Amino acid sequence: MAQQEDVFKKIVSHCKEYGFVFPSSEIYDGLGAVYDYGQMGVELKNNIKKYWWDAMVRLNENIVGLDSAIFMHPTIWKASGHVDAFNDPLIDNKDSKKRYRADVLIEDEIAKYDDKINKEVEKAAKRFGDSFDEAQFRSTNARVLEHQAKRDALHGRYSKALNANDLEELRQIILDEGIACPISGTRNWTEVRQFNLMFSTEMGSTTEGSMKVYLRPETAQGIFVNYLNVQKTGRMKLPFGIAQIGKAFRNEIVARQFIFRMREFEQMEMQFFVKPGTELEWFAKWKQTRLKWHEALGMGDKKYRFHDHDKLAHYANAATDIEFEMPFGFKEVEGIHSRTNFDLSSHEKYSGKNIRYFDPELNESYVPYVIETSIGVDRMFLSIICGAYKEEVLENGESRVVLQLPAALAPVKLAVLPLVKKDGLPEIARDIIKDLKFEFNCQYDEKDSIGKRYRRQDAIGTPYCITVDHQTLDDKTVTIRYRDSMLQERVSIDALNGIIADKVNIKNLLKAL
Ligand code: ATP
Repeated sequence: MAQQEDVFKKIVSHCKEYGFVFPSSEIYDGLGAVYDYGQMGVELKNNIKKYWWDAMVRLNENIVGLDSAIFMHPTIWKASGHVDAFNDPLIDNKDSKKRYRADVLIEDEIAKYDDKINKEVEKAAKRFGDSFDEAQFRSTNARVLEHQAKRDALHGRYSKALNANDLEELRQIILDEGIACPISGTRNWTEVRQFNLMFSTEMGSTTEGSMKVYLRPETAQGIFVNYLNVQKTGRMKLPFGIAQIGKAFRNEIVARQFIFRMREFEQMEMQFFVKPGTELEWFAKWKQTRLKWHEALGMGDKKYRFHDHDKLAHYANAATDIEFEMPFGFKEVEGIHSRTNFDLSSHEKYSGKNIRYFDPELNESYVPYVIETSIGVDRMFLSIICGAYKEEVLENGESRVVLQLPAALAPVKLAVLPLVKKDGLPEIARDIIKDLKFEFNCQYDEKDSIGKRYRRQDAIGTPYCITVDHQTLDDKTVTIRYRDSMLQERVSIDALNGIIADKVNIKNLLKAL
C-alpha cells in the first residue's frame, strides 16, 4: 500500500513537471481542490472529450448534443432535490481537526476486509498452483469465512444506516469498528452532520434586488429542462439521448486526492429518454456500452469493474459505477443510473408546464424514463494517467519514465528531432512538421542529446519520434522510434503520414466500439 501511495505521489509530481496539471492559484499557495490543466493536460483532456463526444453523438443517430448554461433558475435545484438532499455526512476528528466523510471512512473499512480476503486467496493460489479451486477455497477456508462474515455484517449495518439517513448509527459504526483518524491516530470523533455541497452566489444588482443562484452541481438538469426543446426542434422519437460536456461545482468536504475529487470539475453526461417500463433493459445495455468504451482504450480489462450502489439516490431505481483501479484502490470513474421519471415529473410539478412527450405510435402523452451515463473528465484523465505511468529499467541499466497513453489520446502524436543543429537537418525537420501539422499535433525539439530528447517525449507519452540524420539528406528517409518498444525503423518521409494516422486517429478507437 505504502508503495502504491509512493507511485501516486510520483504521478502527481510528474503531472506538474511535464505541464499536465498545476495546482490552481499556485503563487498564492493554491486553492483547495481546484486545479489548472497545463499545455499537455489540456490536449489530453480535449482528446478524452472528443472520444466521448464522438462515441455518443457521432456514432448514434438518436443522440444529439447540448451546451446549457451553468446558471439556471434556482427552482430547478429545488425540483431536482438538490437543495434539500444533496448532502454528505461529515465527521471531524477533534485532535487533528481534519474533516472526513463518514460514509467514506466506513467504505474504506469494508475495502480492508476485501483486501484481506484477496490476500488469502492470492497466497493459496500460489501455494496450490494449477490445482487451486478458488470457489471452493473461498467457501471453505476458515480465515476467509471469518473475514467475509465480518465484512458482510458491517456492510449490512452500513447500508441500513445510510438508507435510513441515520447519522447517529453511522457514527456508532465508526466507533464500534475502531476507525481512527489517519492523521492523529485517535478515535476522538465529533457527531456526524449533513453538509450541502452546492455553491451559491447572488445574481442581479442590489438596487433591483438580487436572487440566490447556484453553481450547478451536475450538468444533467440543463438537459432535463431542455429535453422538450430538443425533442421538438430535432423531431426526435423515443428512445433518444442528449449529451453534454460542461463544468460542475461541488463544495466537497474532503478534497485530498488530487484531481479525483475537485470542487470545480467537468462532467460528460448523457441522458437517454425511454418509454416507461423499458428502462431496466436500457440500463443493462448502457452498462455494457460504457464498459466497452473504457476497455477499448487498451489499459487492461482487469482494471475495470462494476460496483452497484448500496444506497440509491433519491431519484434512481437502479445504479452502478464503473470503477478503475487507481493506485489508491478501485474508484468510481463513471456512474450509470436509471433515474426513472423523477426529474421530469418534478420539473413539471414545479414549473407548472406540461413537459410530456407525445408518442405518435401510442397516440398518448407521458413522461419518459431516463437512463443517465455520467462520467467525470478529470477522473477519466486521472485513470488514464495512472494506467499509463510506467517506470522501466532499460537493458543498459538506465531507467525511464514513460506514459503509455493510448496513442489516440496522447497530447503530442509525434516529435521531429534533427540529430544535429546544422547541415540542413533542422530545415528538413521543420518541413516535415509543416506538412504533418494539419493532421497531427507535432513537436519540434533540437536541444540536448537524442537520448535526452527521447526521454522527454516518453515522459509526455508521445507515441512516435522521428529523427532526421545525415542519411536523410541523401535518400529522404528518417528513423521512426516507437515509444513502447523503443524499436527504430528506417522509413521514407512520404510514408510517415500513413504509418502515424493508422494508430493515432480517434476513428480507430471508435471503430472498435
Ligand atoms: P462520489 O461518490 O465519488 O462523490 P458521486 O457518486 O457523487 O461521486 P456522481 O454524482 O454520480 O458522483 O457524478 C458522476 C461523475 O462525476 C462521477 O463518476 C465522477 O467521475 C465525477 N465527479 C463527481 N464528483 C466529482 C468531484 N468532486 N471531482 C471530480 N469528479 C467528480
